[in-house]
Amino acid sequence: VFGLSDGLVSNLSLVGGVAGATSERGDVVVGGMAGLVAGAMSMAIGEYVSVRANSELLERELAAERAEIEDDPAGETLELAGIYADRGLDRASAMAIANQMMADPETALQAHAREELGIDPEELGSPVLAATASFGSFALGAIIPVIPFLFGSGTIAIVISFLLGLLAAAVLGGGLALMTKRSVLRGVTRQVALITLAFVVTTAIGNLVGAAV
Ligand SMILES: [Zn+2]
Repeated sequence: VFGLSDGLVSNLSLVGGVAGATSERGDVVVGGMAGLVAGAMSMAIGEYVSVRANSELLERELAAERAEIEDDPAGETLELAGIYADRGLDRASAMAIANQMMADPETALQAHAREELGIDPEELGSPVLAATASFGSFALGAIIPVIPFLFGSGTIAIVISFLLGLLAAAVLGGGLALMTKRSVLRGVTRQVALITLAFVVTTAIGNLVGAAV
């Protein structure tokens, strides 16, 4: 969802900026497509690196936990029992459950990962999947403002592009508000206001630069 919004805002601004500087339809389409690919690549790479780094960090912590369980099973059993006791179990039950968890090394590792690191070892996250999703959602948002320039040019294309952007921003803002159970009106207004601001600023700068070069 955030990738979609990023793509929309960044490319609506880009298209507005280029269209403000040139009346050539082809230039706007090339600029818009270049902005789409560049932005989507940058999002995908950023996402890949961050998910990758995060899952490597978690794997290192898991490996450390696995080593602790092997080296000091008694200490780790007490540690786990202590966590269960803190949750409100009485000492005997906590110890019984901890012993049961520690009986199988895989179950023991899962229990320690969940209770101590707050992670599920089965769900470390795939960097490639995250990168692909980022690329796709950015590209989807970014293509919207380019569409009018595939069919026309000039002020009418800029206006339609801006209106499409507003519509998409309103849908996104409303959807986000619904998902997070906040005021839909406020969500829509905020998203629409922000995208308008971005568009006005870049179109104005595009006009200035276009007049200067
Ligand atoms: Zn532990």
